[in-house]
Amino acid sequence: MKTIGYAAQTAQSRLAPLSFERRALRDNDVAIEILYCGVCHSDLHMARNDWNASTYPVVPGHEIVGKVTAIGAEVSQYQVGEHVAVGCMVDSCQDCDSCHSGEEQYCRNGFTLTYGSPDRIDGSITHGGYSKHIVVREEFVLKVPETLDLARAAPLLCAGITTYSPLRHWGVGPGSRVGVIGMGGLGHMAVKLAVALGAHVTVISTSASKQADAMSLGADAFLVSKDAQAMTEAQSSFDLIIDTVPVKHDLTPYVPLLDLDASLVLVGQLGPVDGTDTSPLVFGRRHISGSLIGGIAETQEMLDFCARMNVLPECEMIRMDQINEAFERMERADVRYRFVIDMASLQASQ
Ligand SMILES: [Zn+2]
Ligand SMILES: [Zn+2]
Repeated sequence: MKTIGYAAQTAQSRLAPLSFERRALRDNDVAIEILYCGVCHSDLHMARNDWNASTYPVVPGHEIVGKVTAIGAEVSQYQVGEHVAVGCMVDSCQDCDSCHSGEEQYCRNGFTLTYGSPDRIDGSITHGGYSKHIVVREEFVLKVPETLDLARAAPLLCAGITTYSPLRHWGVGPGSRVGVIGMGGLGHMAVKLAVALGAHVTVISTSASKQADAMSLGADAFLVSKDAQAMTEAQSSFDLIIDTVPVKHDLTPYVPLLDLDASLVLVGQLGPVDGTDTSPLVFGRRHISGSLIGGIAETQEMLDFCARMNVLPECEMIRMDQINEAFERMERADVRYRFVIDMASLQASQ
């Protein structure tokens, strides 16, 4: 199947239109016309080869919402015309203990990324959602509940599940005391989801400038991490802190905020972090942990939860040909809080 998308040809080049082929339907494949695609920080990193793992051309995009246009002979869960979604994964071994327990993101044999990974069957490099069509095996397609706003649902597929999964894993519910560090695409979803789960939510930020925004997203409290007295008073007062900051930073100020047995969970890619004071870990049986997106079943649970509780990301809609400008604005954190590409603009911009 011929399709069009936007691709980076080198680490230095801007994204530009690309025509390419989507594979012919395998028996367990679903063909999807993409309606909306969210713009994630990973898209920028992969386009620019920041992680030294990119194979060009890179067609980014792993927050995909669309409509089924065809199904393979053995597909049983989806029908033509249905609204569906695809997130960060399009395949895994389906055979290891992680896959059997619905945690494909921790597949022992490595899951297949929605873009930039070799396909498990033919070895071709996968291309993501900055395109008109995608073909994905049935097990990695999600149902979009009818009551969920299609135009705003896309960021749930990465930003949503990445924050929902740790909230669920660490048992957040009514009365849980949750802290959120960072108020970007992920952080603003962490606030909304934790509030919807019934938690008492505090945004932790280096300055007071984001307080009004935090409160408007539903946060109950705001803690300025540069305010030494407020930080001392907040010691041992959190059951879970989700750290969404996507760049290297000092974890030391945040660890003492955790109560006994509580966890600071990293969802960003920080790499080596030097100089973290480990004493508060020992003295308070506190934990520093990490978490990667979420499994397919949990992603479906999150979509259903968001539809039921009317939890939606704050989105700024853009045209496909505005993507380079959107990348530049994202680098300056000049977005509230997620860009979403209206894919109807793709044909028009050719
Ligand atoms: Zn992402
Ligand atoms: Zn597996």
